[in-house]
Amino acid sequence: MAKKFVVKKDTCIGCGVCAAVASAVFAIGSDGLAETVISEVPEDLVSQAEEAMASCPVQAIVEE
Ligand code: SF4
Repeated sequence: MAKKFVVKKDTCIGCGVCAAVASAVFAIGSDGLAETVISEVPEDLVSQAEEAMASCPVQAIVEE
């Protein structure tokens, strides 16, 4: 099942880990903070996105 992930911009410190772990899902935006590049994460990318979420040092990624 596709899932939705959201980056809490007020928490993100722009470390880039999520974009390195799941580049198909997260990227660093022009504001220097992470954002999702796809609104609905397809099944085959969910585990990657969840790994990125777990790797975030400040827990700025939430699954909806
Ligand atoms: S891993 Fe977390 S703190 Fe680092 S860029 Fe991604 S959302 Fe921001």
